[in-house]
Amino acid sequence: GLPRPPMAPLAAPRRSRQVMVGPVPVGGGAPVSVQSMTTTPTADVNATLQQIAELTAAGCQIVRVAVPSQDDADALPAIARKSRIPVIADIHFQPRYVFAAIDAGCAAVRVNPGNIKQFDDKVGQIAQAASAAGIPIRIGVNAGSLDPRLLRKHGRATPEALVESALWECSLFEEHGFHDIKLSVKHNDPVVMVRAYRLLAEACPYPLHLGVTEAGPAFQGTIKSAVAFGVLLAGGIGDTIRVSLSAPPVEEIKVGTQILESLGLRQRGLEIVSCPSCGRAQVDVYTLAERVTAALEGFPVPLRVAVMGCVVNGPGEAREADLGVASGNGKGQIFVQGKVVATVPEAQIVETLVAHAVQIAEDLGVD
Ligand code: SF4
Repeated sequence: GLPRPPMAPLAAPRRSRQVMVGPVPVGGGAPVSVQSMTTTPTADVNATLQQIAELTAAGCQIVRVAVPSQDDADALPAIARKSRIPVIADIHFQPRYVFAAIDAGCAAVRVNPGNIKQFDDKVGQIAQAASAAGIPIRIGVNAGSLDPRLLRKHGRATPEALVESALWECSLFEEHGFHDIKLSVKHNDPVVMVRAYRLLAEACPYPLHLGVTEAGPAFQGTIKSAVAFGVLLAGGIGDTIRVSLSAPPVEEIKVGTQILESLGLRQRGLEIVSCPSCGRAQVDVYTLAERVTAALEGFPVPLRVAVMGCVVNGPGEAREADLGVASGNGKGQIFVQGKVVATVPEAQIVETLVAHAVQIAEDLGVD
């Protein structure tokens, strides 16, 4: 019954330094955070803030915005000020955008110092400015933009090449005494990606941002990310995650949140335990499960709700649930904590479940 004690994690988290992205701690034993990136032109302040608000509502904790032009850099003060979650400015080549982002009040900057090394002592100046502002720098190594020198040396973007690149990038800040770094080494192949992060976890103390890059459309990207993050997080590696999908960014947050919930790294909100249906089913289980999910989405207390296709196994299979239904003969047996409390016509199943959910919340003193 409610409230359930949290599950013990599958592995103790790797010991890493902690950085603060605004109010969100990353690394050092902090809960794994979920982040995404906006797809609107950053210079379009209203559209970007609108998307950030949608991401925030979906549970996004940190948001990244791309800054490819001066217009985008000019939009940062308004975005950083009005966003309710910390904003990371993503900058590729222009040191002046990095300074603009720091001045704008961004919570962190993503920049690879290797890209700006040629600009005299800009790396040192960035280290100084970030230190003064108290913000971390995210260094992101991607297979697709690996240093040509390392590509030649390793032949392709191997895990070793990605890690060597990341450590070299870090050293450019370390030589200026700057260590508030979080790191990623992304690859589109989950196996290469997992190997790279494992090597990196051994080789440095920094918190790690997990990502499978160019993971693909929603279905494929979800599976690739779930598999790769699952392997790493189950081994205690990973401090913040970004699922990359060729889909609206809110979907990335939903997938990221589900991954953490599935691993017991975050308390579940709504969990629908629905049977796969079989020849015994007397109701369309898929549709019923979808309707129950929609009716209870965003419910203020964590709930495990069982949706079972028949009364033969339904109540038994659902004993662990807070609430459930087993269908049969055009009716639904409603049960609370494994006990049948009512039998209602099929058309009233969803509303009856919602009524009992509200009762559970009231009993817990939650409105
Ligand atoms: Fe089949 Fe009933 Fe089990 Fe669903 S609950 S899978 S319908 S036996």
